[in-house]
Amino acid sequence: MRTGVFRSAEAVKPDGFYFLDMGYPVSYYCPHCGAVVELERDGYLADKSVTPYPLEGWVYADPDEDFEDAEGIHFVCGESDAPDLTWTDVVSEADDVENPGLASPCGRDFYLSFVKYEHGREVESVPESDYVVIGGQGPSSPRGPDTGPRGPGRF
Ligand SMILES: [Zn+2]
Repeated sequence: MRTGVFRSAEAVKPDGFYFLDMGYPVSYYCPHCGAVVELERDGYLADKSVTPYPLEGWVYADPDEDFEDAEGIHFVCGESDAPDLTWTDVVSEADDVENPGLASPCGRDFYLSFVKYEHGREVESVPESDYVVIGGQGPSSPRGPDTGPRGPGRF
């Protein structure tokens, strides 16, 4: 299993958009069945991932809560009628949809996580079920950075 990361690049990238004080739609899909949901968001929040389980250490809000202050959003596939949320009839055919044959929307939980920063560094998540080095990227240690105090800096 891989962590599904889906970003509607066109919609997320601010290039060429006027940054007015209004929301803009960003699309995500359910990692279980692929149901595509559109979320109207204010301002700019960087998305980290969409996963079928919550990331350890992240605090999630429901779509009808004030999620701009949360660290992520907890969706129930097809089940929220929050004003900022639109369940489209589109079903993604991405490779990382777990059950492409599932009736969609499927009513299962999934989680959109925003990028978090601590001490000016992006906080990495530690997936509970398939913790492997993904792509072997980065020189950082295999432990998550959010366990224990920050080590001494190397100056
Ligand atoms: Zn679903």
